[in-house]
Amino acid sequence: MRDEHDCDVLVVGAGPTGLCTALMLAQHGVRVRIADRRPGPVEQTRATIVHARTLELLDRLGVAETAVARGLPITEVEIHSSGRHAGEMSLAGEGTADQTRFPYALALEQFEMERLLVNALGEHAVAVEWGTEVTGVADTGSGVSVQTAGDVISARWLVGADGASSSVRKFLGQEFDGETYDQAGLLADVTLDVSLGVKGMRLNLTRGGFVGILPLRSGRYRLFGVVPPELHNSPRPAAVSHESYAPLDHADLQLWFDDYFKVDARLEEILWASMFRVHSRLAAKFRVGNAFLVGDAAHIHNPAGGQGLNLGVGDAINLAWKLAQVVHGEAPRWLLDTYEAERRPIARTVLRRTDSGSNWRPGTTRWPCGCARTSRLGSSVRSHGLRRCGGCSSTCSPSCGSGTGAAARSVGASAS
Ligand SMILES: Cc1cc2nc3c(=O)[nH]c(=O)nc-3n(C[C@H](O)[C@H](O)[C@H](O)COP(=O)(O)OP(=O)(O)OC[C@H]3O[C@@H](n4cnc5c(N)ncnc54)[C@H](O)[C@@H]3O)c2cc1C
Repeated sequence: MRDEHDCDVLVVGAGPTGLCTALMLAQHGVRVRIADRRPGPVEQTRATIVHARTLELLDRLGVAETAVARGLPITEVEIHSSGRHAGEMSLAGEGTADQTRFPYALALEQFEMERLLVNALGEHAVAVEWGTEVTGVADTGSGVSVQTAGDVISARWLVGADGASSSVRKFLGQEFDGETYDQAGLLADVTLDVSLGVKGMRLNLTRGGFVGILPLRSGRYRLFGVVPPELHNSPRPAAVSHESYAPLDHADLQLWFDDYFKVDARLEEILWASMFRVHSRLAAKFRVGNAFLVGDAAHIHNPAGGQGLNLGVGDAINLAWKLAQVVHGEAPRWLLDTYEAERRPIARTVLRRTDSGSNWRPGTTRWPCGCARTSRLGSSVRSHGLRRCGGCSSTCSPSCGSGTGAAARSVGASAS
């Protein structure tokens, strides 16, 4: 039944989380609009790792094959400790191909991911409304009334996918509690004077920090790492935001590369390098009345854990099929309560794991990705596969996975 609203669902924010939400809603025949204050799609590399579970979710949206074609499947992690080769870890260990169509982590730049999602949305005649900033939100009881610079949009449901500094979260009066740590993260896009291979990621561990070196299809490498406080003086940002990055002096990066991380390659070109403070925060509620928070708007953590985009896609799929069912009158409204019940514990787990990952020290029982592991490096590392790497691959709720979660069972529905 059609009602008086301009659309069934308004999605605010056209990052990966908002785009996946809108795409699944459109595929289910929901009248969806998606607005973003940016003038157009993102051009930065930003997130670069798409995990196996996320590829399975993208497969449901029909875009996984395009993503794989534009990315680089990573099947090995080569580990160096204090400049010396210490072992390898397989991401495609024995048996993993039986468990997933995607037995690897995909190196894929965020702008590529967003581009393919925008194109897929276009096939459903949904165009992102760029240059549209949301400046106010009011719950009307039967829906929401959303103020933009030049318009008021009414919708039955609102999805706030507007990132770490979310305006929707503020309009809903939700605290974003947590911490900002002293330790600083490092992100950079570089070229190197030697090839470190295209199948493997390199992890150079050192006292009090680490640097990961991820090959990208373009021939560049993404560096991500943690640097101890004594090596840097990065400022404490005023706002909790992934945008609060401080430029990193290129000479410092080369020095750390040679003397601290002890990488056996020289930096050729530094395209972008920055330091950031690590935040770890959760929104007080993921749902307020007719509005939901998803992705970075609901949770923020260390991007060096490579989970930000992945966690957001999991939120999007979990919420979108439920909203579609409720909009079409095929499921009771209480189904929507299961979004927060299922996703909050997962977000908490990722925050905990990426926190312990950023505080990693050699000899502890945590790896930089945040997964629990043996502290011994060497041959014991070789046999580990995706299955045991819970922190890296299992960021999804039961019901959006195989459709066997509590919500899916009780209404006989699944995300597919
Ligand atoms: C420089 C940089 C490097 C990063 N590197 C990594 C990495 O290596 N690994 C990793 O996992 N993550 C990384 N991240 C984080 C990753 O990009 C995010 O976790 C991911 O994009 C979250 O997706 P999202 O869709 O939830 O939010 P976002 O991608 O932040 O999208 C939010 C969107 O909402 C829009 N918006 C905001 N406010 C409004 C408003 N009032 N009205 C309308 N639109 C609005 C914004 O313009 C934006 O397009 C990085 C981020 C940055 C900025």
